[in-house]
Amino acid sequence: MNDMTRCFTPPQTHPHLAGTDRGLLEAVAAGAARLTPEQGLTIFHELSLHDLGRFADARCRTIHGDRIRTYVIDRNINYTNVCNARCTFCAFRRDADDHDAYTLEPSAIHEKIAELSAIGGTQILMQGGMNPALPLQWYLDLLSGIKSRFPHIHVHAFSPPEFIEFVHFFDPPGESLEAKIRWVMVRLKEAGLDSLPGGGGEIFAHHVRRRIGLGKCDATSWLTCMYVAHTLGMFTSATMMFGHIEGYADRVQHMDLVRRWQDRALGPAEGDRGPMGHYKAFISWPFQRENTPLGRVPDWGTRPEDLASAAEFPGDLVARLDESLSNEEVLAQAPAFGKRVRMSSATDYLRTQALSRLYLDNIYSIGASWVTMGPHVGQVALAFGASDMGSVMMEENVVSSAGTTYCLDEAVLCRLIRDAGFTPAQRNNTYDVVTVHTDTPVAPDRRVTDWSRHRARKMHQQAPKAVQASVSAKAVASAT
Ligand code: SF4
Repeated sequence: MNDMTRCFTPPQTHPHLAGTDRGLLEAVAAGAARLTPEQGLTIFHELSLHDLGRFADARCRTIHGDRIRTYVIDRNINYTNVCNARCTFCAFRRDADDHDAYTLEPSAIHEKIAELSAIGGTQILMQGGMNPALPLQWYLDLLSGIKSRFPHIHVHAFSPPEFIEFVHFFDPPGESLEAKIRWVMVRLKEAGLDSLPGGGGEIFAHHVRRRIGLGKCDATSWLTCMYVAHTLGMFTSATMMFGHIEGYADRVQHMDLVRRWQDRALGPAEGDRGPMGHYKAFISWPFQRENTPLGRVPDWGTRPEDLASAAEFPGDLVARLDESLSNEEVLAQAPAFGKRVRMSSATDYLRTQALSRLYLDNIYSIGASWVTMGPHVGQVALAFGASDMGSVMMEENVVSSAGTTYCLDEAVLCRLIRDAGFTPAQRNNTYDVVTVHTDTPVAPDRRVTDWSRHRARKMHQQAPKAVQASVSAKAVASAT
């Protein structure tokens, strides 16, 4: 099954059962029952790490079978680091007049795509800062230029926060935000946009988002943007960045919103729309703190007041499963909210990912986050509900600006998947398998004779300085 079919009927919930009820969890793993938010939070806290992993793995095997786990060959292209938002977790953004601000020339982007194509890549993931200097025509020219040169490359680009800023920058016609997004998206789609990445999801709860995503769209706008993409037949992904100021209930509420909007995308057709798209994947990863303002916030548990016997993490005090508190309520209930971070450990990451596999019964793929967690935790994640190892990493600028990330080639990815007990398979952007690498001498990992040339490389910011400098007054001028 590589699809959640139209008119998907969500499994029944059984709210009278405890989250830890084995019969319930077995039914969830089989796709025959749905967790309530309360049950989701319960299993996160009360199941042992291994039990949580076991049930998530069983759910994953129900959907994907026992044999194949996938990866994709794509390339992250961050076309500009100029951004008018000021997310406190971001070390990537620059003001337009910073010495290292950049906007890539289309020709530089074409070069990157040619390199990707040469190693068998099928997709680019193109995201940027939200750069008010770039007009709509710049994007249209960029997309049509890519499609005319590389018609075989899938363009997965522009996350919802970028779209919301496009609405602000381009002032399109329309009575509602949805209509304005649609106006812009239709034009970008016609020019060559194929699908939307789920960047900028962070944590949806308003009180969290307002503190960490300064200048970035709210959850309703984010979800509405994805819904518009779905109504245009596009596939998207959803993400969550956790392990900072949020409470655990905020993570469950985030997943619940994704699940509800996915039910809508998969439900009966609304109006006379054509085939709907939907979320194909959910990927979550822990906040990386280096070089970020949020990373300078003290860790929970390092201050005397944190250690008082009744002290509770401020994020948990104000987290709710079904709503977001007003600012006044937050300040009244947890004055220290936002002033402590609770960084995620490897096991917290694995628990969160396992929960996402069990909770998101209507999402096909769960991605392992080896980019932030490291290849071996990413490999373990395949036993905690993940079915996909994401992308061979040629370049990454945003997360690597905020801490160590990892760079792997195809042979290493295949080896990690095979060593975890599965058969690696390259997929395309719609999660269809392109090539299954059975254990033969021609498989990418079996061709390697010297692994010293294929080690996972750690990388911090890998900014192409020379290219960055080629910014673009020229690019903008040529587009206007
Ligand atoms: S995370 Fe994205 S939107 Fe936020 S400041 Fe950084 S580049 Fe801008």
